[in-house]
Amino acid sequence: MSSFCKTKIVATIGPSSWDKEILENMIKEGMDVARINASFADFDELERVSKSIYNISPRIATMLDTQGYKIRVTGFTKDKELKDGDRVIIVPEDFKGNFSEKHISITYPTLHNDITRKTKIFLDDGNIKLEVEDIKDVEVKCIVTHGGVLKTRKTVNIPNTHLNFPSLPEKDKEDIKFAVENNFDFISASFIRNVNDVAQIKKIIGKSSTKLIAKIEDREGIDNFDQILHLVDGIMVARGDMGVEIPLEEVPIVQKEIIYKCRCVGKPVIVATQMLESMRGNNTPTRAEVSDVANAIMDGCDAVMLSAETSTGNYPVETVKVMNDIALRVEDVLIPQKVSGYTSASIETDELCNALFDIVHKLYLKGVVVISQTGKTSQSLSRHRLNIPIWEIGNDIQRIRQNALLRGIKGYYIKDLSDDRDEAVKKGIVCIYSYGELELNDKVAIISGSSIKNRSNNSILEILSVKDIIGY
Ligand code: PEP
Repeated sequence: MSSFCKTKIVATIGPSSWDKEILENMIKEGMDVARINASFADFDELERVSKSIYNISPRIATMLDTQGYKIRVTGFTKDKELKDGDRVIIVPEDFKGNFSEKHISITYPTLHNDITRKTKIFLDDGNIKLEVEDIKDVEVKCIVTHGGVLKTRKTVNIPNTHLNFPSLPEKDKEDIKFAVENNFDFISASFIRNVNDVAQIKKIIGKSSTKLIAKIEDREGIDNFDQILHLVDGIMVARGDMGVEIPLEEVPIVQKEIIYKCRCVGKPVIVATQMLESMRGNNTPTRAEVSDVANAIMDGCDAVMLSAETSTGNYPVETVKVMNDIALRVEDVLIPQKVSGYTSASIETDELCNALFDIVHKLYLKGVVVISQTGKTSQSLSRHRLNIPIWEIGNDIQRIRQNALLRGIKGYYIKDLSDDRDEAVKKGIVCIYSYGELELNDKVAIISGSSIKNRSNNSILEILSVKDIIGY
């Protein structure tokens, strides 16, 4: 079994994991990307944790997750018990009328305009269900169809309904600006529903090199997926909210479709939420959770994600290890699969990567070395899910970190990478060899541009014996 885990692990950092020693151990056990959820962290915390990760290892990518258009119940302190058949009235938080025991205010001002009778409203991640009976002015009168105890600040979801949020929430705008100014590698943007949502975020990101991952979590995002995918750098299948917004049994189907579409265009796709949920409190996962992680990897995702398991759970390090162990075992039996379609690399590069797929096994290649200028070759090659490593050699540390989200890519940063192609290839191979990943008798493929000076497309595919390069 290989010791290089090709599937990437995104772990959410929080009170359980932001100590230096725990972070170090999580990295040792296989964490590739550290995600910080802006819904639960202020700027001081975001800065402290991201700096701490950078100081421990500049190889670990950082991801800031925005809150998005999240609606919450508000305006009360004592828990409310809602029983089946009870009547409640939903109003905006600035409601000026007579506020009774039956009223529940929410942080969205114009619900009354966006819904009709019979619309279903879910509170607290769908644990409490309401159905609209009548709408009078701003008052939305509902019957409780599935009761429960409602605490303040719990979430509100209205499946299958386009909500007319005026624009990107102020909090998101500030968080995105912060991420860009503080050099976060990724922004994972919540509740991306359409190209307009993407455009608003991209305007703030501007020309910065921070990459945008769109979190797909509702019907609208699923319906507009193809256009969204075209504009963003990667996708997260955000199964938490998705499981409230669409019928639960549809989630695995959507997961498979999204993964396949992302692979076709060579953009990274992360499967998220409740992957090892029981490990928040237990040091071993359930059989079903192990299967879920394994199946997401078999579906072909680039990365699997941990949320509360590592941010507030009791076993952050053990959870990363379990995920890493599952991935290594599954990867051992996976057969590479070629996908068709074109990526954002040149057509020459895509075809070169297709050709490489066909010869990797015939020639018993140990791995592929990509001398990277834009990082696009790694995307084009990674999507075929080869079962040998792809070593990306480059002199841009941030791009190396960002491409580390792609399945099968292992980045090596060489600061003074020569602009002479042959020299760069030699440096790359010597570097991989010195880390013990190659032996003298191994053969590797190299993909590179004809001359780094000319910054041309990567258009040379060369097969080399390590011995010939190292020169013993
Ligand atoms: C999700 O809903 O699955 C998700 C990843 O988002 P969050 O953790 O922000 O709820």
